[in-house]
Amino acid sequence: MNEPAMDAISKEDLLDKDRKYVWHHITPHNDNPMVVVSGEGSWIKDVDGNRYLDGMSGLWCVNVGHGREEIAEAAAKQMKTIAYSTLIQSHVPAIKLAEKLNEWLEGEYRVFFSNSGSDANEVAFKIARQYHHQNGKPSKHKFISRHRAYHGSSLGSLGATGQAQRKLKYEPLAAGFTHVPPPYCYRCPFGQQEGACRMQCAEAFEDAITWEGADSVAGVIMEPVITGGGMLVPPDGYMKRVQEICNKHDVLLIVDEVICGFGRSGRKFGHHNFGAKPDIVTMAKGMTSAYSPLSATAVSAWLYDSFKDTSKADSHLRHVNTFGGNPVSCAVALANLAILEREELVSRSAWIGEQFRERLQPLAAHPHVGDIRHFGSALGIELVEDKQSKRPAEASLVASYIASCKRLGLIIGKNGDTVPGFANVLTISPPLSSTDEDVAFIVDTLLEAFSIRA
Ligand code: PLP
Repeated sequence: MNEPAMDAISKEDLLDKDRKYVWHHITPHNDNPMVVVSGEGSWIKDVDGNRYLDGMSGLWCVNVGHGREEIAEAAAKQMKTIAYSTLIQSHVPAIKLAEKLNEWLEGEYRVFFSNSGSDANEVAFKIARQYHHQNGKPSKHKFISRHRAYHGSSLGSLGATGQAQRKLKYEPLAAGFTHVPPPYCYRCPFGQQEGACRMQCAEAFEDAITWEGADSVAGVIMEPVITGGGMLVPPDGYMKRVQEICNKHDVLLIVDEVICGFGRSGRKFGHHNFGAKPDIVTMAKGMTSAYSPLSATAVSAWLYDSFKDTSKADSHLRHVNTFGGNPVSCAVALANLAILEREELVSRSAWIGEQFRERLQPLAAHPHVGDIRHFGSALGIELVEDKQSKRPAEASLVASYIASCKRLGLIIGKNGDTVPGFANVLTISPPLSSTDEDVAFIVDTLLEAFSIRA
């Protein structure tokens, strides 16, 4: 691992300064933060010299693992060539990356670059509204999302988010977002038992569009699988059915691939797993493996073409951000995608998922494990206090499993507070480059944390 120079500042000093100056993301202020100093492959090291397997790839994002020299070199080379140019004009790394993303998307898309997943979703909302405006349907402005979904922290993307706890104290958010129940088979919101599924969760979109009025609905936004909201894997045919409903009502389908994209699903993008063809795809995290901030809103070519209609005044998109599509970030993304391709990390992700599926089977019988859900190499373990009643695990029980894993050297995550009492899904989403030994370590550690001997 590349170690930073720590001699200039003592550990105590560092922690004091952290407490004094740094406002941490989404963390209670009395928490004792881990200070990470270096990383290599799937492993990170903290300021005390402890090594941990980064079982969440940071925040579902370091797909190629840590410490990749070739990405650092690509960034340095681009900085020396030209570090900044706007996308009001163009530059070489953006052109190459937009072309490469078309290959990855397996379709004809035009790409608008931004900085974060939240930004990419905001741009998607603006494009969808403007499209309908220019297409003779200016009243189509609303978006339908799902309860438990997370789509970002800005006022529009938080509006799309279906997790009450994240919104309280920040409302009113952007107007025009409504939510339908998620495909949550373990606790079917429609009360169906296994085997009796009528996919009412997909039909709920048709109901919502009808109730809201199709003339008022611009788009639907969904992740292929709700990840941060608890790893909710939909039944077969769900996404295609939602797409049919969207097409029927002239509603654009926006697929948020911020987590599911770039191999996490075991395919290039999560919607590929379900045979859907979104009108708009948003992406971030794994595009650069988080080595540099970058996101994108990829828009179907036919939709983009409608913004080129010179007979309509001002038909272009009036949206700009200073850093979006920064040349260094685009060069980083190209180097990252080259690694994903060369090392065949998309199929590696599928393999990791198969290992989890097979080797974690003993967990299913554990009294605290209600359900285990997989999507590519992403894994969710829903904890319950009691298997029979499915009473969700209390926060302290969830925290105890996370702490046990950490004590054993494995960092795992949990879903956000979707609704009070439902932050009970452990999440695991390791780098796609994880070695056989890394995967064995994750499996063995999880089994040990649940006191199961492999
Ligand atoms: N969409 C999804 C599905 C996410 O998980 C996230 C972040 O975790 C976002 C959007 C927002 O991305 P960012 O944090 O880069 O704004």
